Amino acid sequence: MRKAFISPSKYVQGEDELLNLGYFVKTFGESALLIAHAEDVKRVKSKREETEKRFGIKFIESNFGGECSRDEIKRLEEVALKNNCDCTIGLGGGKAIDTAKCVAKGHALIICPTIAATDAPTSHSAVLYTPEGAFDDYAYFSQNPSVVLVDTTVIAKAPTRFLVSGMGDALSTYFEARATRRSFSNVNAGLPCGFREGLCGGAKGTNTAFALAKLCYETLLSDGLKAKHSCDVDQVTPALENIIEANSLLSGLGFESGGLAAAHAIHDGLTILEGTHKYFHGEKVAFGTLVQLVLENAPTEEIEEVLSFCLSVGLPVCLKDIGVDSLSDEELNAVAAKACIPEESIHSMPFPVTSSDVAAAIKTADVIGKAYKMKFERTSHE
Ligand SMILES: [Zn+2]
Repeated sequence: MRKAFISPSKYVQGEDELLNLGYFVKTFGESALLIAHAEDVKRVKSKREETEKRFGIKFIESNFGGECSRDEIKRLEEVALKNNCDCTIGLGGGKAIDTAKCVAKGHALIICPTIAATDAPTSHSAVLYTPEGAFDDYAYFSQNPSVVLVDTTVIAKAPTRFLVSGMGDALSTYFEARATRRSFSNVNAGLPCGFREGLCGGAKGTNTAFALAKLCYETLLSDGLKAKHSCDVDQVTPALENIIEANSLLSGLGFESGGLAAAHAIHDGLTILEGTHKYFHGEKVAFGTLVQLVLENAPTEEIEEVLSFCLSVGLPVCLKDIGVDSLSDEELNAVAAKACIPEESIHSMPFPVTSSDVAAAIKTADVIGKAYKMKFERTSHE
């Protein structure tokens, strides 16, 4: 059986780690194209100037427009060419990171997340949008980022909701990797077609990726609430460090080399509902995870463990928690149908899934979540 595991070349996280950014630029040359929102550039200004001076390198400003669109990528490629940049840096949230991946095209790339809201920093893929902000396409590159550099001091100071949302994205990792493993589905390892007949560029997940996915879930349970408290008061503690690692590295490697299944497909389905738009990716994925557990009839203890975790850190457990106050049968069926389109990861579940199965699981998960939330609120007031 062909198996594969992919990852960035280096992952470094620590307090004030951005002070070492110049060191990593230096490993590629003298200058780097810096792709970041103006407000993120401002947030890290003093560290940026200090590392530039200390390592004698130069950051080329890009005036990033904020959208990971084909036009913006083309413009940034020209800036990089004109200035002879030796590498690309993506600093900030999802869009700056994805744009940097598109500009670097699998070559020298340093990713510096300033929030721990998703597991995108380590992966070899990006999401393209139109200049107006609508979904365009997925893009895949020949290599993962060269360096992922995480400054925990910066992440501790970012709003807690980002960290909690990252925990929601990380929550699905183990359950989706487990489903992918049970079904022997391919993982997204970006491989060329194999020389043996039938390989078709696909590969199964490794024990390594599965172990990381499992550790990701265990870390959330042991340190999630403590990390949330640290982030509330902008402090770096061992628990916060563990959660930053879980949200960024464990979840990133776990999803990419372990596989996605129902939770993310249900997330994608939910995005057609207007009410969910003001909720973050990870918040919707948390509810998607609960739906997956209902869909696969997971043990009650496991569902309750996930519910308790979500409620303790403030992740959604029912439709109302993700902005859906009412849901008609037509809307529910449309969400379920979108989650089940042929290219969706839901087909990595270890049994055939129809859209009526998904609709039933969404409705049931909503009721279970609501009931458990009432019980949880009653006991926490006693
Ligand atoms: Zn995700």
